[in-house]
Amino acid sequence: ERQKLLASSLQPAVTRDGKRVEVVANAGNLTDAQLAAQNGAKGIGLLRTEFLFLTRQTPPSEEEQFQAIRDIGLALKGQPVIVRTLDVGGDKPLPYIPMEPEANPFLGVRALRLSLQQPDLFRTQLRAILRAGALANLRIMFPMVATLEEVEQAREFLSQVHSDLESEGIVHAWPIETGIMVEIPSAAIKAEALAPAVDFFSIGTNDLTQYTLAAERGNPHLAYLGDGLHPAVLRLIEQVVQAAHQEGKWVGVCGELAGEAEAVPILVGLGVDELSINPAGIPKVKAILRAMTMSEAQSLAQKAVKCAKASEVRRMATKFLQALG
Ligand code: PEP
Ligand code: MG
Repeated sequence: ERQKLLASSLQPAVTRDGKRVEVVANAGNLTDAQLAAQNGAKGIGLLRTEFLFLTRQTPPSEEEQFQAIRDIGLALKGQPVIVRTLDVGGDKPLPYIPMEPEANPFLGVRALRLSLQQPDLFRTQLRAILRAGALANLRIMFPMVATLEEVEQAREFLSQVHSDLESEGIVHAWPIETGIMVEIPSAAIKAEALAPAVDFFSIGTNDLTQYTLAAERGNPHLAYLGDGLHPAVLRLIEQVVQAAHQEGKWVGVCGELAGEAEAVPILVGLGVDELSINPAGIPKVKAILRAMTMSEAQSLAQKAVKCAKASEVRRMATKFLQALG
């Protein structure tokens, strides 16, 4: 059975009424990337680069980052790899970066906020990514964007790094497709203002749920609030997709929700173009996509956003999956 799933997982995922959905993988290192390629991922929708920075006493050199990212890109054999810039902060401190203790690390200097405040660290990472992009099919993505100004600043860093590499005569990818993670409610609500400034959006439902419900992810006492199928979160996702498509941009979902069976028809029914999930879950998700129709998924999604409770959404989605057999 598993073998059959695996064989069919190498084929594209098309719904019964002909809508193709990209299924790509999340990866946190080279092993994940290799596993993803084996499981039929059409690329890496989220490469978390934290592995290069954690558990060490000094920052990784440009060369070290270049080699690691290049190797992951090469493992995907020409399929796109979305490299996310560093997402650490108060909850994941680095010994070589001065960070003040914060009362609310999840609301503090993390991810892109940290990169913008540590120009040397940020430039080194961007140089490594652009250089690796000359040898593999890479895209770049900024995490934890709250405002358009942050996107503008990040893009300014990126084009500065490009000019530097150019004048140093170093081969690198340019232009490079550049997107942002939508995981803060302000970015979702003003997606129409951000869409013209990016090539794509990737919705991070782990953080988007945490910030929408104001419930710390990973706090076991608040687990009952941490449901990405809460209709408030689904409304935001719907808004992001509409804003992106209006501008001709595509939208992925890369939070854990994208790999949950109950969420698959709802996300696709809301118009999400790409699901990025843990490699092991790919065969299962593709099987669901092939068993459903887009039009049924759209009407399920429209009912889901109108629900009052996450539990109602889950009940409807479970029924939907049962009907697929
Ligand atoms: C997310 O927030 O949904 C996400 C994919 O990013 P991370 O889990 O790395 O914060
Ligand atoms: Mg996140």
